[in-house]
Amino acid sequence: MMTRNMDTSLASLINLHGKIAIVTGGAMGIGYGIAARLAEAGASVAIADRNANEAQASAEKLNAKGYSAAAFAVDVSDEASVQQMIEQVIAKWESVDILVNNAGIYPNVTLAQMTSADFDKVIAVNLRGVFLCTKYVSERMIARGDGGKIINITSIDSVHPSSIGLAHYDATKHGVWGFTKNVALELAPHHIWVNTVAPGGIRTPGGAGGKTAEEIANDPAFAPFLKKIPMARMGEPDDIGRAVFFLASDLSSYMTGTQIVVDGGYLLA
Ligand code: NAP
Repeated sequence: MMTRNMDTSLASLINLHGKIAIVTGGAMGIGYGIAARLAEAGASVAIADRNANEAQASAEKLNAKGYSAAAFAVDVSDEASVQQMIEQVIAKWESVDILVNNAGIYPNVTLAQMTSADFDKVIAVNLRGVFLCTKYVSERMIARGDGGKIINITSIDSVHPSSIGLAHYDATKHGVWGFTKNVALELAPHHIWVNTVAPGGIRTPGGAGGKTAEEIANDPAFAPFLKKIPMARMGEPDDIGRAVFFLASDLSSYMTGTQIVVDGGYLLA
């Protein structure tokens, strides 16, 4: 439960020992960056991903550092799969204190080319997936009565479009931001705080095709994009991990229904 005393040490505010966290899409990219910071702070982290092999490898990487992590297979767009994943996490660790809804897809296709199947797929993963995980995890948090933290990964596209070809994606990210605010209102009486982190362009397998920061800096194809970023670099998964950690810890003791933009200043341009 939240500590509000001015005498509370900084060390205890950032201590997640004894907490159980689920990170969807935690096998790679931003999700892994988040999982690594939560695990470092002492949480036991469920890497919940549809990519089972990569999730297992990522959990092993964290355990090799002396942290506590395990892989769980899930497709967040599938109700039965989400329920099963949550059951498995609770069977292993007894509860869930922190949920990070990170899994998401961003296929680029113009409205003219977009089929209703393309549209439905993005809605199913990015928006329905957040709804399903939030519904079934918050149900457990409410029953347990110890509160919790839910952090949804949106995007700068939740407030402003970043490129043509992402109309379905932008609809989901605006949707998750609206969902967050409403659910924050509903869950506040249960001491469950719900916030979002909105990343700008982050160097992930999905977002930058596995390129190194140096390759990106020297690649003419990235130049117009980098020019729009006041910090003049793409973000790293750890830039998002740090912001999510802040929201998952007691550092963010008086925050719910907010969005933290982590974009190197991109939205200023
Ligand atoms: P990524 O590199 O593509 O990694 C996403 C992970 O989520 C992969 O392991 C993927 O598995 C998994 N996943 C995809 N669909 C899933 C599903 N239905 N159920 C469970 N797991 C699923 O993505 P990322 O770039 O780290 O992005 C993560 C989140 O940040 C997304 O919500 C994205 O919209 C948001 N975001 C990213 C950026 C960026 O620049 N990268 C910017 C703003 C917001 P597979 O390998 O099987 O696909």
